[in-house]
Amino acid sequence: MATNYEGAVRAGTLAAARAHSELGTRNIVESSGGNVDIFGVISGLELPLMLRPLKGLLGAYLDDPVPGIIITTERRMSIQRFTAAHEFGHFWMKHQPSLDDEGILRRMPNSPEPTGLFQETEADAFAIGFMMPKWLILGHAVRQGWQKSQFRRPDIVYQLSLRLGASYEATCRTLVRYSLIDVATMDTLLASKPRAQKVALLSGYVPADYRGDVWLLTVADAGTRIEGSRDDIFVVQLAEHSGGGYVWDFDQLVASGFVIAADHRAALDPDGVGGPVVRRITASVDAADRGRVSLEERRPWQPAPPASALTFEFDMTGPEPAGLSRADRRRFLEAA
Ligand SMILES: [Zn+2]
Repeated sequence: MATNYEGAVRAGTLAAARAHSELGTRNIVESSGGNVDIFGVISGLELPLMLRPLKGLLGAYLDDPVPGIIITTERRMSIQRFTAAHEFGHFWMKHQPSLDDEGILRRMPNSPEPTGLFQETEADAFAIGFMMPKWLILGHAVRQGWQKSQFRRPDIVYQLSLRLGASYEATCRTLVRYSLIDVATMDTLLASKPRAQKVALLSGYVPADYRGDVWLLTVADAGTRIEGSRDDIFVVQLAEHSGGGYVWDFDQLVASGFVIAADHRAALDPDGVGGPVVRRITASVDAADRGRVSLEERRPWQPAPPASALTFEFDMTGPEPAGLSRADRRRFLEAA
């Protein structure tokens, strides 16, 4: 166990890197193009985990009679995921049992540790290193074509946070930890709330509330895995060569249970006639569950191959429900 804050951050970060290499999770995440499936990792190790409404706590790590984890159902999936990674960090680093409240989300160098040890700092550093490793942030940046300088933009950091499965705030703090932004930039980013990004992306469409996240999906998301929640909304933005008679076909999205709430076209070049346009649809999750969807840009009257396509996997069944995690439910179903 570390005896000071800096040592604890180092120990937690190293333990997370070791966990990725021992568990083979880096390969899985990089090939799926998604986030770190912490509940899947815990399920794979058959470490008992329960979700239940908790008052004043986000989660707990217990070790009597056997190691186990409890996570609240009262928070969004990004917080459930971070908490699960924190509790998993306690398990992985052979810590003492821990009851964890909101303090785990904003631990500072001077945060008091009840035990006088630094196991909470270690578990937080583990959670950051495991859920938001630098290679994963850089991987998403390469895929999306984001430059380091664009991490100053709240809209970019918000979209990054969705792809990491992390909260916007945790993402901002982690960018500082990796020196991808400075503290002043983080403060500016934190002053901008995700709700503003949601309103801007929805451009006039008003959902029942703004609790859900709004994903901006483009061809850069081809081949990735979108892990969302039931109240999330997709904004799909694609170039459409309508002058050549091509239109994007969203039938598969509708067949998968999504509902198209808005559908717009805007000219890419306002002076050009017959040039490509930007097709932008807004879709709510409605009955969508998990699966794979393939959107195709084609000439509606021709059976010819599509001009372009956007295929991605999705799981919109978050957040984790009470009882067993979704990963455990799948594992038990497969074993049955
Ligand atoms: Zn803890």
